[in-house]
Amino acid sequence: MLFVIDFDGTLALRDTVDSLLEKFAPAAWKDVEQDWLQERITAVECMGRQIRMVRADRETLEEFFQSIELDASFLPFYHHVCRYAAVAIVSDGLDHPIQVATHKAGLPNIPVFANRLDFVADGIDIAFPHLDAHCAAGNGVCKCAVARDLAQPLGGLMVLIGDGKSDICLARRADVVFAKKSLLAYCVANNIGHIPFDNFEDVLAVVRKWDAHPPMNLSLVA
Ligand SMILES: [Mg+2]
Ligand SMILES: [Zn+2]
Repeated sequence: MLFVIDFDGTLALRDTVDSLLEKFAPAAWKDVEQDWLQERITAVECMGRQIRMVRADRETLEEFFQSIELDASFLPFYHHVCRYAAVAIVSDGLDHPIQVATHKAGLPNIPVFANRLDFVADGIDIAFPHLDAHCAAGNGVCKCAVARDLAQPLGGLMVLIGDGKSDICLARRADVVFAKKSLLAYCVANNIGHIPFDNFEDVLAVVRKWDAHPPMNLSLVA
């Protein structure tokens, strides 16, 4: 069994990419966001343009990454499920801030799959090692492809915990979906079985009842 954990807005309390842009990019990053929301540019193009608008030196940025707050109820959840399942953080955000924030919070080494942050002179750049041209969602990280490759040797069972647009491609394939915010709205609108949650305490309360095997019929737990 594999638990796929979204980062921004799920493990992290806020969207760290938005906070980064708010703090260190000119306000025009919001125009780029509009171009993406109105489908004039792809998600990948949007993120590339926005990330390259960040102006700050490395020290300032590292300090910001250290300040990212995580859901404190994640660790008890992790300790419970890691006895029988694999856990991966799969994010359409940036890898380095995730590494910094999880390390700072004292979390164990959990594999991270995200877009790559590169420091450049007075700013940052982004690369997309987990892009999948075949995925209709068109995100920087195709969560359905990453999760499929990870879950296959583990028996294939996938549990997604997420909150947003980048989780949609996996929500259609995962065996169990824990959803909040826009992912919750998407699941409702598209008739995808899901369990609403606010934080990892809620998730743990459900998972404890599974006794190491998630129910295949969501109506049993919802
Ligand atoms: Mg998210
Ligand atoms: Zn996908």
